[in-house]
Amino acid sequence: MRLEQSRGYNDDAITCGMEEFIRLNLPAAVSVVSGYKAGDHFERQRVIGRLAAFLEGGGTQSATVDPANLALPVSHASGVGQKRAKLLEKLGIRTIEDLLTYLPRRLEDRSRFAQIGGLHRGETVAVRGNVVGVDQSRVSKRTSIVRVTLSDKTGFLYATWFNQPWIANQIKRGETIDVHGKIEQHYGKLQVSSPVWEPAEEGMEIGRLVPIYPATEGVSDRFLRTLIIRNLELYGGAFPDVIPQRIRKRHDLLKRSEAIHALYFPSNEESFERARRTLAFEELLLLQIGMGAQTHSLPGKSHAGDGALVDTFIARLPFRLTPAQQGAMREILADLRSKRRMMRLLQGDVGSGKTIVALIAALAAIDAGYQVAIMAPTEILAQQHALKVGELLAGLPVNLAILTSASKKKDELKQEISDGEIDLVIGTHALIEQDVAFHSLGLVTIDEQHRFGVVQRALIEEKGEDVDLLVMSATPIPRTIALTLYGEFDISLIDEMPLGKKEITTICVAENRRDEVYAGVERLLEGGEKGYIVLPLVEESEKLDLKAATQVYAELSASVARFGVGLIHGKLSAEEKQEAMDAFQSGKVHLLVATTVIEVGIDVLDATFMVIEHAERFGLSQLHQLRGRIGRAGQHATCYAIATAKSEDAQQRLAAFSEHLDGFLIAEQDLLIRGPGDLLGTKQHGFLSVLRAVNLMRDVDIMRQAQQEAREILGKGVPPALLAEAERRFGDVLKWLQV
Ligand code: ADP
Ligand code: MG
Repeated sequence: MRLEQSRGYNDDAITCGMEEFIRLNLPAAVSVVSGYKAGDHFERQRVIGRLAAFLEGGGTQSATVDPANLALPVSHASGVGQKRAKLLEKLGIRTIEDLLTYLPRRLEDRSRFAQIGGLHRGETVAVRGNVVGVDQSRVSKRTSIVRVTLSDKTGFLYATWFNQPWIANQIKRGETIDVHGKIEQHYGKLQVSSPVWEPAEEGMEIGRLVPIYPATEGVSDRFLRTLIIRNLELYGGAFPDVIPQRIRKRHDLLKRSEAIHALYFPSNEESFERARRTLAFEELLLLQIGMGAQTHSLPGKSHAGDGALVDTFIARLPFRLTPAQQGAMREILADLRSKRRMMRLLQGDVGSGKTIVALIAALAAIDAGYQVAIMAPTEILAQQHALKVGELLAGLPVNLAILTSASKKKDELKQEISDGEIDLVIGTHALIEQDVAFHSLGLVTIDEQHRFGVVQRALIEEKGEDVDLLVMSATPIPRTIALTLYGEFDISLIDEMPLGKKEITTICVAENRRDEVYAGVERLLEGGEKGYIVLPLVEESEKLDLKAATQVYAELSASVARFGVGLIHGKLSAEEKQEAMDAFQSGKVHLLVATTVIEVGIDVLDATFMVIEHAERFGLSQLHQLRGRIGRAGQHATCYAIATAKSEDAQQRLAAFSEHLDGFLIAEQDLLIRGPGDLLGTKQHGFLSVLRAVNLMRDVDIMRQAQQEAREILGKGVPPALLAEAERRFGDVLKWLQV
């Protein structure tokens, strides 16, 4: 080693080269010196340094490794400098641990070797051969070729590489190498172009199941693999195992270090999957523990009265609650009664009847002498809730108020709220303003929870003591995501429609057949039907050439004025919006031109058609939400989606939209097509992206199991080591949740 150092790291101190020497004499350190031959001067210097450290450590790598090293910035990893560290960061790899747990996308089976004499054109195999020739030539100014001739006594195979002249220096005549690639045949000669190659029997790139990485610019798949494997040997023994043994046994999981090792050296697909499952389970368990540790410990109160008010209310309803509504109601009431703090997500498609259930919860709390706040994301929605709730509560001893930024006599209202004269406040963000104080807030209900940040949720919760929390979501999210994002919540699901299954026909129409759609709309209007025209923008934008709401409104006002045409969009004042909605509700207006302000919650039961312009511009769940505005009484309805779907994504989206009516199916499709980033808000996505091993499409079972285990652990008290690990791994996102 010293000789090598003194000779300036030329890899000539030992005749066979450093790597070969170590391979022969000190197999345990192969990974320490791997890359020595290929490395530049500085890399070789680093390798020798590592080798020295390795030898000083008594030759056992794990003994020299301190788990704290895992948290070191990735620039400390062997083979990574500042520049590469920056590239790795783009892949989300910041620490050495991130690097070692960076999940391969898939496995590629490169284990099958074939003899040259038995090769067939088109097959993808590995071949081991002697290098009998290395030629380098230039085909044109820009193109150079390295052609290596391999022989294994059964025949000759030509391996070619374009524009990688350095390969000619790496492969030497007389050596034996392995190549892997697709066999071609040119003029009767067997050839493989740009194959993966490595010195024979190295067994890293060829001759095994090779993990393949989702690489990006500047960080190739092979580079990552070499890097990870090299560092795995250095740090791989340092993974502390915090998950209790009995949980590992119960769910057939590996130890963390075993799992990580198996990701890179899987003996088969199953062992790879078992390793991934182990890491996914750990992530979910720790995350749930981290989330639960904050909320579970919170004290709670019972917030339910004797139920008289609820009974009266239900008895006076003009309809019977559906079994799904009753189920959700029972769960919520039990939570309210319990001294544990309620954190429950009420999920149900648009029109499934969540509002009634939320109102029943409110009445139970009011009965017990508490105030209740219902917070909605938009002015229109708050107004509409207030209107509906007002009607439903008529004659009951409940004082209802609505508080939005548009409310008049706000100061008086706030006074009444803080005096406790108001029992139920429905409002928007205005509710979380600092000068809003409650007398005895006991239950907070948040509608369309995902439209609020967690911060806002916390702000409203703080206005009471130990409040129970009910959040509602009409945006169906796949179960996997619900379990993760709402890990600390219990989930109630309303999975049936009170007014019968929706019967909506969805027709996707190309832009050039727009006139036919509008002719159809006119016929529907003549038949006395009501509907919406939805546009993505308010005002004309030349650049995007979108039909803006105002323009379409002007056109339609001219052509179908006799049916009453209205306009609603986000730039109108709250009053103007209300007027527009009232006119549509009452039937003065039969055709409402709208932007996506109508997306959430609008409830006009007799609207039976909708035209969505530029449907390609909407996300799948948004399209679904929009369509949820029609056919709300279970009558037949028609949705026209006018679109020029250029991208494949848009085509898939529209196909899924016309095919599925079920919100959960739609959400799953959306997840498949676009991934979680677009399906959810960016914040939620940021949150989900901390999960590295979890497969959000498929891991429902793992999520459920991890959640169950987490709850059991939380119930008994979390061992400090486990909590510390949750904090270490997910502290950042958990802090964000806590804000
Ligand atoms: P969501 O809030 O889930 O979108 P809503 O609570 O607004 O749904 O209910 C949709 C419509 O169905 C409302 O007009 C509501 O009055 C009505 N509704 C709710 N529950 C029932 C039921 N069990 N039977 C009949 N109609 C119902
Ligand atoms: Mg309670």
